Amino acid sequence: MRICVPTEVKNSEYRVALTPAGVHDLASAGHEVFVQRGAGLGSSMPDAEYEDAGATLLDDAAELWARAELLLKVKEPVESEYGYLREDLTLFAYLHLAADRPLTQRLVDARVTAIAYETVQGASGGLPLLAPMSEVAGRLAPTVGAATLLRSAGGRGLLMSGVPGTRPATVTVIGGGVAGANAAVIAAGLGADVTIFDTNIARLRLLDDHFRSRVKTAASNPLDLDAQVVASDMVIGSVLIPGAKAPKLVTNEMVSRMRPGSVLVDIAVDQGGCFEDSRPTTHADPTFTVHDTVFYCVANMPGAVPNTSTSALTNATMPYIRRIAALGWREALRTDAGLAAGLNAAGGAVVNEGVANAHDLPP
Ligand code: NAD
Repeated sequence: MRICVPTEVKNSEYRVALTPAGVHDLASAGHEVFVQRGAGLGSSMPDAEYEDAGATLLDDAAELWARAELLLKVKEPVESEYGYLREDLTLFAYLHLAADRPLTQRLVDARVTAIAYETVQGASGGLPLLAPMSEVAGRLAPTVGAATLLRSAGGRGLLMSGVPGTRPATVTVIGGGVAGANAAVIAAGLGADVTIFDTNIARLRLLDDHFRSRVKTAASNPLDLDAQVVASDMVIGSVLIPGAKAPKLVTNEMVSRMRPGSVLVDIAVDQGGCFEDSRPTTHADPTFTVHDTVFYCVANMPGAVPNTSTSALTNATMPYIRRIAALGWREALRTDAGLAAGLNAAGGAVVNEGVANAHDLPP
């Protein structure tokens, strides 16, 4: 199969949909892989590594798209790419079509086969192509939080671990799912005193078993959460209610009672945020103050570490890419119900119920 990987054109997107190792894997299986020159540079993956792995480099995006049977992207096509969409093309990328009517219409009009990373389901449930980005954002949160705790960044001037004879930072993680558990690993590793709040007791049981006594767990209720948040140096928000906006669990009034210079990192800001005052920020200007505390609310945290994010994403997508390349999309989806759940549009129709409902289209 001819598999093509363009340079991402969306603003501030430095990831790429395939690593040189992924190219090597597919080329070794007999596929032709075309990569746009410079596509990996943002992820510190040079052209020479792609070429050595077996890719043919192309300069021109239009030529690359035109050659593709399977086109791999990270983010959805943007308007300047709409003209490349055509009937005999299979597109595999993060699409988030429920929130994007114009792209949905273009995919339908052009009769593209569109498989969305975010709706592919794992064999035992879960969303295997979203999980790696939650892992990245979760592990990044205490790192950016620790940097924000520095006095020079407006924080309390507190070292996460403290030193012998001083107290470590108190870190509260709200939501102990993929992102929250990964945040707790790093916060505990940096020496902080960490408590994870979750409403799911079965999940807390699992976390307790995993962390032993290195991290505390707490069943989340408004009274206990209030006391813990107010006493925290750092709060990390990582709740998710699938398909819904994040609940506002930390109010402006609670923040007003926190110590000046405390830090709040809202990972869930991409779902509206779980702190009342959260609003999306960018890597260029990531923080703002609320009652003398510092909020960090970057909506695409993995963008700060594209080298890691690209590798993590490719690790997760490769089994599916291999399958589509070997069998063709129809047979690959027919024999894998989890991958089939990724199909959002095909043959001029929307086939994902959520996307169809969002746009009032027949599924
Ligand atoms: P997840 O489903 O694995 O975990 C969510 C957890 O929240 C679950 O354990 C659930 O029980 C818990 N929860 C739900 N309601 C709660 C409540 N009221 N109180 C306490 N806990 C509650 O989800 P995830 O993959 O870890 O994702 C978490 C969030 O991170 C999502 O909003 C996701 O979109 C976001 N995210 C953001 C970025 C970014 O760059 N900012 C990157 C990746 C993921």
